[in-house]
Amino acid sequence: MLLFTPGPTPTPEIIRQAMAVPTLHHRTKEFESYFEFCRIKLIELINMQDVLMLASSGSGAMEASVRTFCKKPLCINSGKFGERFVKIAKAYNMPFIEILNDWDTAPSSDEVAKILNEDREIDSICIQMCESAGGLRHNVEDIAKVAKEINKNIVVIVDAITALGVEEIDTANIDVLIGGSQKAFMLPPGMVMIGLSNLALDLIDKNDIGFYFNLKTELKNQRKNTTAWTSPTTIIIGLAKYFEIANMKDIYKDTKQRAIATQEALKALNLKIYPKNPALAMTTIYSEDSLKIRKILKDKYEVNIAGGQDKLKDSIFRINHMGIIPVNEAVWVVNAIELTLNELHMRAFDGTAGRVFLENYYKQG
Ligand SMILES: *Cc1c(COP(=O)(O)O)cnc(C)c1O
Repeated sequence: MLLFTPGPTPTPEIIRQAMAVPTLHHRTKEFESYFEFCRIKLIELINMQDVLMLASSGSGAMEASVRTFCKKPLCINSGKFGERFVKIAKAYNMPFIEILNDWDTAPSSDEVAKILNEDREIDSICIQMCESAGGLRHNVEDIAKVAKEINKNIVVIVDAITALGVEEIDTANIDVLIGGSQKAFMLPPGMVMIGLSNLALDLIDKNDIGFYFNLKTELKNQRKNTTAWTSPTTIIIGLAKYFEIANMKDIYKDTKQRAIATQEALKALNLKIYPKNPALAMTTIYSEDSLKIRKILKDKYEVNIAGGQDKLKDSIFRINHMGIIPVNEAVWVVNAIELTLNELHMRAFDGTAGRVFLENYYKQG
């Protein structure tokens, strides 16, 4: 079965092998050297002042960030993950402002600027770089820039779990950048990374908040290449292997080529791309036949792709592009979709998907 869900993504053999070592104790020099290597590589990748690695799924980093950096956040809600920031604020009885969008539509930086100008109590913005609910790319770069022009102390918190490792991120105006092990890093679920700006570091020092997710305690430990609590040792060993094999420039280039080739191939089958501004992490298709398409793909062609959530549960499907993916697998996915449409009498098979995919993939290369 080919796993093509936008997280978790498959862990390559070479990384699985690296993790298949006897359990390391986390308070040893041997483990600290893995940790240090990952810290250096992550800081280089995100181009920010510092970084934290926490044993948690993505939501833990979102919660830690809201608690540590926000008194009144502006939450951009364009789907399930944006909604999660809202739910976290509510859970802590924190006042917040919400921009609620259709899941295929990103807010403009003007819209954000207007709200920030009207409400000077807003001290932070919580936003997804790619809102995975609909595969929507937010224009985080512009929004962050405009926000900083209005108030340089506003904390820009970006959930980049489906963007970090997918594309080069301009972190110039970002204060908190969240990534996760189970998406583009192709590791098992269970670890998050949080990139931090100088402003974020100042606030961590001032706001000594929480216990397990106390970022001040973590920072103190992690700067000494250890963690406050037990480290997710196996995942960190896997991450070290990822950095050993990954050439980020090549990964960004190939991910973009595969994403665009997939979009073009599916458009050529008259399928509709759902988001108005698609992210590179995944291709999201709107189809009322999603459920049937996914079932045939899985049962007959051994391709596992994701459906939607909530209101879009059975009306979209999502194909992953995150990680290092062999092109033969990616082209098989669009071929299998074309075969499936033929089976559902939606469109006769003539090899269009594979042809258009390859033309686009190699044209860009
Ligand atoms: C996968 C994902 C997360 C992680 O959420 P968990 O359920 O806590 O693992 C967070 N944000 C986005 C945008 C995601 O795609």
